[in-house]
Amino acid sequence: MEAGDANLHQTDDDGDKSDEEEKEDRATQSLLNKLIRSNVVNNTNQVEVLQRDPNSPLYSVKTFEELRLKPQLLKGVYEMGFNRPSKIQENALPMMLAEPPQNLIAQSQSGTGKTAAFVLAMLSHVDPSLKWPQCLCISPTYELALQTGKVIEQMGKFYPEVKLAYAVRGHKMDRGVKIKEQIVIGTPGTVLDWCVKLKFIDPKKIKVFVLDEADVMIATQGHQDQSIRIQRMLSKGCQMLLFSATFEDSVWKFAERVVPDPNIIKLKREEETLDTIKQYYVLCNSKEDKFNALCNIYGAITIAQAMIFCHTRKTANWLAGQLSKEGHQVALLSGEMVVEQRAAVIERFKDGKEKVLITTNVCARGIDVEQVSVVINFDLPLDKDGNPDNETYLHRIGRTGRFGKRGLAVNMVDSQRSMEILKTYERHFNKKIGRLDTDDLDEIE
Ligand code: ADP
Repeated sequence: MEAGDANLHQTDDDGDKSDEEEKEDRATQSLLNKLIRSNVVNNTNQVEVLQRDPNSPLYSVKTFEELRLKPQLLKGVYEMGFNRPSKIQENALPMMLAEPPQNLIAQSQSGTGKTAAFVLAMLSHVDPSLKWPQCLCISPTYELALQTGKVIEQMGKFYPEVKLAYAVRGHKMDRGVKIKEQIVIGTPGTVLDWCVKLKFIDPKKIKVFVLDEADVMIATQGHQDQSIRIQRMLSKGCQMLLFSATFEDSVWKFAERVVPDPNIIKLKREEETLDTIKQYYVLCNSKEDKFNALCNIYGAITIAQAMIFCHTRKTANWLAGQLSKEGHQVALLSGEMVVEQRAAVIERFKDGKEKVLITTNVCARGIDVEQVSVVINFDLPLDKDGNPDNETYLHRIGRTGRFGKRGLAVNMVDSQRSMEILKTYERHFNKKIGRLDTDDLDEIE
């Protein structure tokens, strides 16, 4: 065996990240997930609801009709293809639409219907006859703000009297002009300018304040401070709503500062399991040898859709080139691509236009490509110090929930060290990883 140490100390080309990069990373993941997602995420966990007033009845709805929405909005909801409220919406919508307004902190993984929920709440609370901003929503980045704006436009399609303004960089207006749009969506810095310096918005007239993607927001200290400053300017009766995909302590502390007397809704992320996965390893001597082994199993793995993970961009590029030379049609997801390019690659893969997606860990992190049933670890996942990374291993190959399809994972082992790492995965998850002889594939078929 070759001493495969050389690449063990490399991280995914990205090295250690600054806060700003980390935030950008999360914002990118979030945006990609939005661009890719066509359906609401299925989650079999129970929603946890903590009411500010435990004595008040807990309402949940199973249909949109029960919410007594304006007919124009109900029409918009159905036009978007929503038949019934998602799990989180069942509880969140009645709370957000209640009179008097209630504050809410809601956490659930991306794709569970949070955006749709607060957009519906904003649209419901607007009085279109009043020509000033009444709902204010802040998002961590320009792109995320635009994405949410699109949802507002879609859902409000049959409610054209309601207008939307984007408080994002590049939007130039003359000082002192008042904004007539009833809903404003933007990034914290520009929104703050619009409220304080330019006085386009009178914060005292805001009835609904939404802070979206709080976990991404607070990754930047500046955004956190700006959000708090905006919140302080609002009137006491303003409804405050905060959403987050994750709920670390830091998010929680921030949420409590910006949302007084909140109701709280939480939906735990569905656990991932290795129960429905067959795991194998292949013994190789070198990168080239791994490539040959991959070619041997290529026919078997491309019956389904496969994702191949490499440790570095360089390896991913190399592998994509080699496979293409062999005449295979593969997709490459690379850190050099801009978000739209990445989204397009994933979209094509999801549509089955390419059967194989080659990527690095950093690039694929946080992206759920549900129908992938074969995962090849061309390089085993490692943390940035070159040690086993159980969480990433599980996330790459694991499946969620009871509906998870059966899957296949093949790990390429090319050194003593990578064998040791494989063994730690085997021990940690207490699941056997069997040896696969790529010259005899009866095993995996
Ligand atoms: P989140 O904000 O939690 O990431 P979104 O509100 O963006 O989730 O919803 C994720 C996807 O599910 C979007 O494509 C959205 O259009 C869709 N969606 C949201 N609510 C429903 C619903 N009640 N029924 C069907 N699809 C929905």
